[in-house]
Amino acid sequence: MQIARTITELHEFRPQLGCNVGLVPTMGGLHEGHLALIRAAHEDNDAVLATIFLNPRQFTDDKDFAAYPRDLERDLTLLEDEAVDLVFTPKANEIYSRDFQTEVNVTDLSHKWEGSARPGHFQSVATIVTILLNLTQTQRAYFGQKDVQQVAVIRRLVQDLRIPVKTLVLPTVRANDGLAHSTRNDHLNEDERIAATGIFRALRKVSSDYDTNIRDASSLRESLWDSLRENRSIRVDYAEIVDLENFCRIQGELANTDTALAIVAIRIGDVRLIDNMLLPSYRNNRSDLSALLGVSL
Ligand code: AMP
Repeated sequence: MQIARTITELHEFRPQLGCNVGLVPTMGGLHEGHLALIRAAHEDNDAVLATIFLNPRQFTDDKDFAAYPRDLERDLTLLEDEAVDLVFTPKANEIYSRDFQTEVNVTDLSHKWEGSARPGHFQSVATIVTILLNLTQTQRAYFGQKDVQQVAVIRRLVQDLRIPVKTLVLPTVRANDGLAHSTRNDHLNEDERIAATGIFRALRKVSSDYDTNIRDASSLRESLWDSLRENRSIRVDYAEIVDLENFCRIQGELANTDTALAIVAIRIGDVRLIDNMLLPSYRNNRSDLSALLGVSL
């Protein structure tokens, strides 16, 4: 496994990978969710390029940034074990020159839900993803459903800016108790960790309501809130039924043609967690997700 710490090194090593390469961008703190993306990238490509870049600009909370894990040696060992071919792990000043002043703004999507909870977050995500796609010039790029609104923002920018990459979306990888793997789970204490399993229970409940033919969006939304409120340590930021196309809240009856998505953001103690599920739940698989949320050239 080669490691490029500078753009010069990336340009030196990248041509050796050939022209059938999958990109997996990460911020480090790797877990099973990241590794699933790497494994999928291996299946589709001759080589895998992973990036580890803890992008300071996309954090809207200084404490969150300070607490984010930074164990590069551990992450590199995990990537080596997954037979990653090249890792690009630049420092912030390698990416952002002193007079850096360009932002990619996906206008509508970036201001809803996660975007309104974390102002400026999606502009910074869109900007760094554009930079990484430009620098790495891969044929495919892999993203996780766990951050579904981020995926939607990336789909928009790839389409709008005509970036020649195919994006693929992998289902959320969960622990045995249903909690979505997240770097931030490490900050939960034992009781909080148990409480956090309420998120998946709430999503499962709303999908079973959907399966029993409940199509009224406000009933589904209420079901989500009721389940989340069962645990008193959960504080709900938002819990909604939205249209996957535009992330607008669905009003009234869901049509069978709607691509409905249940989205949740909660806080437990100091930890903020997000999760989501497509309705009906059988759609939460790689091929449906990539068809609905990916970009194919
Ligand atoms: P991050 O390091 O948090 O920026 O995540 C890097 C990539 O891994 C993003 O595309 C995430 O959506 C994806 N990811 C994070 N957690 C999971 C998970 N539990 N399952 C699947 N993908 C995930």
